[in-house]
Amino acid sequence: MSAPSVAAGGPGLPRGEDPVVVIGAGPAGLAAAEHLLDAGRRVVVVDGAPVVGGLSRSVERWGHRLDLGPHSFLSSSHPESVARWLDLAGAAGGVERTEAVRAAVWRGRVVGFPPRPLDVLRTAGPVTTARFALDRLRPRRPAPGTTGGSAYDALVARHGLAVVADLFVPYCRKYLGVHPRDLSPAFAHKLQGTRRGWTGPVDLLTPRAGTGAVWDELARRLRARGARVLLGTPVVGLTVAGERVTGVRCGRAGATGPEQEQTLAASAVVSSAPAAVLRRWLPGTGTSTPTPAAAPAFTARDTYLVHLRLAAGPGGGVGQNAHYVTAYDPQVRTGRLSNTRSWRPETFGRAPDTVLCAEFWSSGQDDLSARTDDQLAALAVSELPVFGVDPRVRVLDHDVLRLPRSVPVLTRGVEAARAGLDAALDRWTNLTRVGRHGTHDWDGQEDALLTGRSTGAHVLRGA
Ligand SMILES: Cc1cc2nc3c(=O)[nH]c(=O)nc-3n(C[C@H](O)[C@H](O)[C@H](O)COP(=O)(O)OP(=O)(O)OC[C@H]3O[C@@H](n4cnc5c(N)ncnc54)[C@H](O)[C@@H]3O)c2cc1C
Repeated sequence: MSAPSVAAGGPGLPRGEDPVVVIGAGPAGLAAAEHLLDAGRRVVVVDGAPVVGGLSRSVERWGHRLDLGPHSFLSSSHPESVARWLDLAGAAGGVERTEAVRAAVWRGRVVGFPPRPLDVLRTAGPVTTARFALDRLRPRRPAPGTTGGSAYDALVARHGLAVVADLFVPYCRKYLGVHPRDLSPAFAHKLQGTRRGWTGPVDLLTPRAGTGAVWDELARRLRARGARVLLGTPVVGLTVAGERVTGVRCGRAGATGPEQEQTLAASAVVSSAPAAVLRRWLPGTGTSTPTPAAAPAFTARDTYLVHLRLAAGPGGGVGQNAHYVTAYDPQVRTGRLSNTRSWRPETFGRAPDTVLCAEFWSSGQDDLSARTDDQLAALAVSELPVFGVDPRVRVLDHDVLRLPRSVPVLTRGVEAARAGLDAALDRWTNLTRVGRHGTHDWDGQEDALLTGRSTGAHVLRGA
């Protein structure tokens, strides 16, 4: 029996043609929904998760609202996004602004980041320090076999071979699972944090009620304007007629009640689901087995967040009282350790405990992914001293969050793969992709806000 087809518009919406269905209630999907409402369209947002916010949601642990990572609104490069985010955050309880103190575990020591010349001298010794300096002056050629360039070439051009070998190569292997030679040159720009500032102060803007509160507020505004936001509703496919998408299949097969499978009729679809998944939902645009050429281009990595609740007492801070410490040393399995308390000091206020977040990155098929939550937490605890955490700290509890395929990896050739996908999807005249996974880009919230508002005229019109 086929699933029932239902009119997706809510009672509060004007009657007329079918609504635009937005897949995903993360920042990009919600921004797209607002844009569609501004254009006078009826909108339904569907998400498989029980809450809005996607990767930018907040979670409640031990009486604190924690963000995943944690999160901050980092950039000022899109003034319109910044203004919109600040407006939402203001309505959601206001923000705390702190200047980031960054540190790194490098060659077994905790140093400030980027390391100052004296730190470099003390940590690497005079010979290596001289090599770092000399290398920056040498002419650089692209690495063999990388016609068209790679992130490696771009990084070497900026920092010199020796610094890249010491810092960026182990970091890329740990975080992204590849040598920077296998990454698009565009990734070098992002890895260097050019927008976030390789040097110079980095402002952290963090909502008092957690980053998720910003997206709760946006969802509240959308509902107030008549949009429907259906949560706990996973999308499993699309229906099409000719060159148009006509509906969004969602729900759980065999389920009854609100979770039962249904098709939402759609005049147009905006998707923030992963690009490769979207392709599989459409006839003639892909197969369940990606082609070898496309496979590496849409790689993504898992993030595992281990939250550790520390008792009040000595050593609640991480090395150099940093907000976060990135471990470049390959033998340290933790990628980054953050002190969530220092991100929102006023909000934590007089609370006696501290929550640290240890971040691991995984292919989803390695020894990290095979570990149980308790084993991951034990690994994180065993590595705390490397990050400068006082060994006398008492860990009261832990909590592990797994975020599958949360880090898009921009491998060399990703631009061609994106163009191929665009060409394959272009024939669907009333469909568009937005967001980090929809566009397969290593984007933050500000980009999600921007791409969400860039839905083309064809979708705005439901053409
Ligand atoms: C550990 C970590 C730390 C980060 N730190 C920062 C930071 O400090 N600052 C910053 O700006 N950004 C940060 N980011 C990035 C930020 O979270 C993302 O850029 C942002 O959330 C992307 O928004 P989005 O809407 O594109 O995607 P998402 O937030 O991933 O939302 C996509 C939504 O689509 C839903 N969805 C997907 N498939 C389906 C389906 N088939 N059916 C129904 N629903 C579906 C998902 O459930 C999800 O809710 C971080 C990301 C991670 C993983």
